Amino acid sequence: MTISEDSIRQALKGVKYPGFSRDIVSFGLVKQAEPSANGIQVGMVLTTSEPRIAGQIKEESIAALQAAFPGVSVDVKIDIQAPAQAAGLPGPAKIEGVGTVIAVASGKGGVGKSTVAANLALALAKTGAKVGLCDCDLYGPSIAIMFGTQERPMADENDRIIPIEREGLKLMSMGFLIDDTSPAVLRGPMVTRYTQQFLRQVAWEPLDFLILDLPPGTGDIQLTIVQSVALAGAVIVTTPQEVALIDARKASAMFEKTNVPVLGLVENMSWFLCPSDGKRYDIFGSGGGEREAARLKVPLLGQIPIEMALRESGDTGRPVVSAHPDSAVAKAFLEIASKVKMRVGLPA
Ligand code: ADP
Repeated sequence: MTISEDSIRQALKGVKYPGFSRDIVSFGLVKQAEPSANGIQVGMVLTTSEPRIAGQIKEESIAALQAAFPGVSVDVKIDIQAPAQAAGLPGPAKIEGVGTVIAVASGKGGVGKSTVAANLALALAKTGAKVGLCDCDLYGPSIAIMFGTQERPMADENDRIIPIEREGLKLMSMGFLIDDTSPAVLRGPMVTRYTQQFLRQVAWEPLDFLILDLPPGTGDIQLTIVQSVALAGAVIVTTPQEVALIDARKASAMFEKTNVPVLGLVENMSWFLCPSDGKRYDIFGSGGGEREAARLKVPLLGQIPIEMALRESGDTGRPVVSAHPDSAVAKAFLEIASKVKMRVGLPA
């Protein structure tokens, strides 16, 4: 059997960074991978303050290499560096002119993450704050639909993109800038580079809050954002059933591993109040969000019922906090906004 750098890297591609769906090779951690006189020599550089992550990566790398090259002796060395000094990575940085950046995330798609992000942004704006909302999903133009805009943003004299203004918010979507046909070719490193540049090329200032509506899951875009933007914290959206909670747990682990505080969970589609019989139906079960929040030791920031008005307003261009500001659902979002403010250390 011949052992080459390529075959070693190939074997290491089976090892995922703990909490992420991305492998340690594409993550750029593997700096040395070569056959040596005694077997295989691997060197990695890791930026983490948690020694158990290095331990887990080492263990899994050794197992993967032993499985791929049975009987060969394997030596894996991991060099742990402080985040900012690692291999040219700048580390999380502030976005110019923006006070507090909050990511809204979910493990699973379709749980109402964009609905929560949009209404949270509007609810924060109602407290007098200047708020921006950025759709970080290259492939799903939710924000454009939710705010009923097809407008293409313009650039200012410094070639920075001017966000579109709707309902008092500054809106931007990564999807605004790419043609309908191009997202499919934006993969891997290109997505990373595009994401890194994008948020800093927008003329956001001055903003008190910027809400980032992340794509669902724990892929390249999410990873790039948590690594390159200084986030005050993340809000995780889930529905009450077990499949969604399991994925919410993975999203939470991603933030924990990158030292981003999870501000709390929002449980969406918690129940349905039937207009004809006035009864409450727990369509996706009950208590899931509360149990998961307790498990993760974070607050349950709020529960949002299934509401026809919420779907209609979201799908027709005016999120519920602006379309029906006095509704119970709008009030629930206002309460979530004040809890979020408290969690980031601001007066509610
Ligand atoms: P995600 O961002 O997680 O993919 P969306 O916010 O786009 O999810 O929501 C998916 C669909 O579900 C949208 O049509 C939205 O209007 C609808 N929706 C979200 N939350 C609710 C709710 N509580 N009641 C009724 N419809 C909802």
